[in-house]
Amino acid sequence: MTLIVEKWRTLAGSLVANTAEHAAALKAQGREIFDLTSGEPDFDTPLNASREAHRAIDDGDTKYTATDGSLEMKRAVSFKLSRDNNLEYRAENICIGSGAKSLVFHALFSILDTGDEVIVPTPTWSSFPGMVEITGAKPVLSPCTSDTGYKLSAEKLREAITDNTKCLIINNPCNPTGAVYARKELKALGEVLTAHPQIAVVADEIYEHLVYDVDFTSFVGANPALKERTISINGASKGYAMTGWRIGYASGPHEVMETMRKLLSQSTGNPSSISQRAAIEALRGPQAFLHDRARKYAARRDKAIALLNAATGLENSTPQGAFYLYPDCRNTFGRKTPGGIRILSSDDLCHYFLESQGVATVPSSAFYAEGNFRISYACADSVLEEACRRIVTACQSLT
Ligand code: PMP
Repeated sequence: MTLIVEKWRTLAGSLVANTAEHAAALKAQGREIFDLTSGEPDFDTPLNASREAHRAIDDGDTKYTATDGSLEMKRAVSFKLSRDNNLEYRAENICIGSGAKSLVFHALFSILDTGDEVIVPTPTWSSFPGMVEITGAKPVLSPCTSDTGYKLSAEKLREAITDNTKCLIINNPCNPTGAVYARKELKALGEVLTAHPQIAVVADEIYEHLVYDVDFTSFVGANPALKERTISINGASKGYAMTGWRIGYASGPHEVMETMRKLLSQSTGNPSSISQRAAIEALRGPQAFLHDRARKYAARRDKAIALLNAATGLENSTPQGAFYLYPDCRNTFGRKTPGGIRILSSDDLCHYFLESQGVATVPSSAFYAEGNFRISYACADSVLEEACRRIVTACQSLT
């Protein structure tokens, strides 16, 4: 006798969460662990945002807001989209949710039906294929390799489209590769979609403020003609270091926002009133710290790459966004650990890093790809540097 529905038995939970939890369990046992699995900024929430949350509590602003967020919050998002992205969205084209993840989920639920196909470029954040499966639609993985900087090309997109394609998911900047699409690359994708009016776009731009050496361009900014079929997702979590506050926002066609609002009203609607007050302040308040933090992230990225370049068997590219490195480790495959275990996959290599050096990283299998692993550099400089030295030691010990 089982209580659960059979179809969920094979559903993969978040694989990144699995590796992070394994590292945490080892830590709890007293092992020294250098954790590079984290997908959240180690910086503090801006003080002005935290203070606004205190004020919200003092004001008694502690009740339900509208299902899909307060009008003030929607107006703050509208202001932000105009200021940062030169995009005009009215409050009725905006939806606020408890985190960007929840909004990706509700956006997909609004537009997908059983049998629809969704093109998901890989390597991908594992929640995209997972969520598509939950809706009953089919994720169609489109593998992207280092020759295109792990980005989906117009050619690849054209090849993946069928009569059943309903949606393209584009994550820019990308978790896990750190790839950032240039305006002309987004335009090229948009041009392919112009011939397929049935295809919607879900553009997850949560890492917008984490770009280095390049400018961020939103999908709609590059493709204004596709505005009416693009649902853009963003939030306070990454740029504003507000992961725990759980505030995300979506902007898109009114009909989709209305459907999302209905779905939210029957599920996880009414995002925290206190968090919304803090997020309004974050979006409307001083923005200069975003550049300072981006500079710090870039310096960490460069330091980590310089250290990792000493590791035999790793090839490091220089990602232009997010806070992840994605070294290619295929040249370690076939080698043996000092314990005599042969490394055959990125899972094996990450397991070896953890067991031999106490360094926790995420194998690319968690991102529907093989041959790489992900390092998050959203951690203290000292942790990052020691972890990279240990990765080098581990790689040099392979024979
Ligand atoms: N999208 C991507 C690509 C992410 O990497 C993450 C966090 N790992 C999210 C969305 C989730 O953001 P939030 O914390 O706002 O739910």
